Amino acid sequence: MYHHIKKLMFTVRVDQPDPRFGNMLLEQFGGANGELAAAMQYSIQGINCDDPNCKDLLMDIGTEELSHLEVIGSLARLHLKPMKNDIDAATYDPLIAIAGGGGVALCNSMGNSWTSDYLKITGELDVDLRSNIAAEARAKIVYERLIDFTDDAGTKEALQFLMTREITHLRAFMIALDSLQKPPLVIGQIPPTPGIVDQYYNTSTGEGDNGEIDVSGPWNDPAEVEIVDSPALAGYQVLSATPEASRTTLDDGATSKSPAKRTRKN
Ligand code: MN
Ligand code: MN
Repeated sequence: MYHHIKKLMFTVRVDQPDPRFGNMLLEQFGGANGELAAAMQYSIQGINCDDPNCKDLLMDIGTEELSHLEVIGSLARLHLKPMKNDIDAATYDPLIAIAGGGGVALCNSMGNSWTSDYLKITGELDVDLRSNIAAEARAKIVYERLIDFTDDAGTKEALQFLMTREITHLRAFMIALDSLQKPPLVIGQIPPTPGIVDQYYNTSTGEGDNGEIDVSGPWNDPAEVEIVDSPALAGYQVLSATPEASRTTLDDGATSKSPAKRTRKN
């Protein structure tokens, strides 16, 4: 159950309202990486969670995000308020000014309505935790950009608090994922097809006019993966992904039980 206490988790102070910045703040109120999305994603994952330890973690953080929603909403409201009676201010967000009277609305900075389509909820705890780690990273970078766009001291303080908590949550979700002790590439139940899983398709080749290069990195180290160079140009096709019957072919019609070997062009 929820209980509202008439205090903000972080005290919000705005010295100089900036309606243009208030519009940007809506991104963290009703946007894809905003506080409502975080609160709903974690809380609903928590409702679905059968692991009692992670359920508690998800409900703790989901509930904290609701408190963040109140902080960012209060902050945005202070910046948007002049819109109600000031046409110059209103031009920064006519929808908020005219339809909302300078109040916050559950939309992003471009006026798009908040949607539950933002939420990533799969019913697989490890998969959900990975989504949450990514969500926290996105929220962190959005806060950082907002901080860079304001000179108002009180606003910076509140945003610094909210940004900091995203790193705290990021760490908690990372540790929770680690605590499941699942090998990082084991997702779900069905194993990937041997052979195919260890192929690297070098599908973007050559050099570009702006210095783009064909790279050898740790992700396509020939000691770890088999490089298939230019598979489309080479007529390479996968005929079966059934582990026992895994077969590939080249455009000369020759089929192979093992994946096509290609020497790497450097
Ligand atoms: Mn938050
Ligand atoms: Mn968070």
